Amino acid sequence: MSHSHSTIPFVDFSHQHQPIQAQLEQAMQNVLQRGDYVLGQALLEFEQTFAQACEASYGVGVASGTDAIALGLQACGVGLGDEVILPANTFVATLIGVMRSGATPIFVDCDPHTALIDLTAAEKAITVRTRALIPVHLYGQMVSPHRLLDLASTYDLLIFEDAAQAHLAEREGYRAGSVGIAAAFSFYPSKNLGAFGDGGMLVTQEEIVAQTMRSLRNYGATRKYFHTDYGTNSRLDTLQAAVLNTKLPHLPSWNADRQRIAQLYDTLLAPLVNYGIIPIANHSAEGHVYHLYVIRVLEDCAIDRTTLQTGLAHLGIQTGIHYPIPCHLQPAFQHLGYAATDFHHAEMLSQEILSLPMYPGLEESDVRQVVSAIESLVGFTGQGCLHSTQSPSSLMVG
Ligand SMILES: *Cc1c(COP(=O)(O)O)cnc(C)c1O
Repeated sequence: MSHSHSTIPFVDFSHQHQPIQAQLEQAMQNVLQRGDYVLGQALLEFEQTFAQACEASYGVGVASGTDAIALGLQACGVGLGDEVILPANTFVATLIGVMRSGATPIFVDCDPHTALIDLTAAEKAITVRTRALIPVHLYGQMVSPHRLLDLASTYDLLIFEDAAQAHLAEREGYRAGSVGIAAAFSFYPSKNLGAFGDGGMLVTQEEIVAQTMRSLRNYGATRKYFHTDYGTNSRLDTLQAAVLNTKLPHLPSWNADRQRIAQLYDTLLAPLVNYGIIPIANHSAEGHVYHLYVIRVLEDCAIDRTTLQTGLAHLGIQTGIHYPIPCHLQPAFQHLGYAATDFHHAEMLSQEILSLPMYPGLEESDVRQVVSAIESLVGFTGQGCLHSTQSPSSLMVG
């Protein structure tokens, strides 16, 4: 077992930015020289290249992923009187986006193994008022495009993807952002593709949706001082677009790095299944872009999640929980009328999940150190009578 105890952060941007620092500075310098800070050339370029990368036809840059959802639903004609189905175990921004569109959020549970929306439960939640379903490609793994498109055509509803954690993810021959009528992306710094601040984008195949979105982000104006929609001010800064343009060509290799790290975690953690530690399941390692690498600390694990997280922190290993409280139990949304027992899997996962360090540039030795630390914490607490010279994993493997 390793005795080096270097600190391992949860995320670290330096590996992404240092090798391309000169290009990033040049790209920002170009914007300063042109002075086109709002709706400038670099934004137009980025909208085109990012939409293309998503295999979508149009891209409209906005101020955040949250705005991409709220305004995007509005651009798709979803609003007051409509029901929108979404998973209970998503980041609260998905819910905020639905609420801001004026539509009524309808939560459904998730699959306990993948943490993705349970589409059987979603199908049962469909009513005559259901207008849209939001699959959240959680942790970087896509919800099945085939099943989504089946539901869309059977029930005549819109698929609006929350792809904020799934830049360039793939499944069943589809890329995230190309499945539904539209998809929302976030460029929050820690996302797979991150700006130097906030940012977001709606991508769509529909010209009319893109047109409406362009108006909505720009005070509802279809031309200057002529306001056809009740819009707002939500543009992706040209400066951020220039940064994102510079970073986009590197995204495939950064995602590949995440996949490599995830596979190593999978391999090293496999023996711990008997100790109540299991990774969130993936449909296939290919196409999953691992925004997060999440494990479950099961009820029959020797130690509880909090003890494991604290123990790792003491060993210099930072972790996260995505997310500790499901949307339907957030204080701000109690008026929606959901109870703490409504979505068993989402509630259970919120107690079990732990996100391990994951970022491009995370070293193999770091991954080994994280897993060794988990092994020692699980073994020490739960199997105190084991021979102290043997780690739990060496006992399980033979
Ligand atoms: C980050 C995120 C958002 C919101 O994006 P912001 O840019 O932070 O507004 C929405 N949904 C999910 C699933 C996210 O992870």
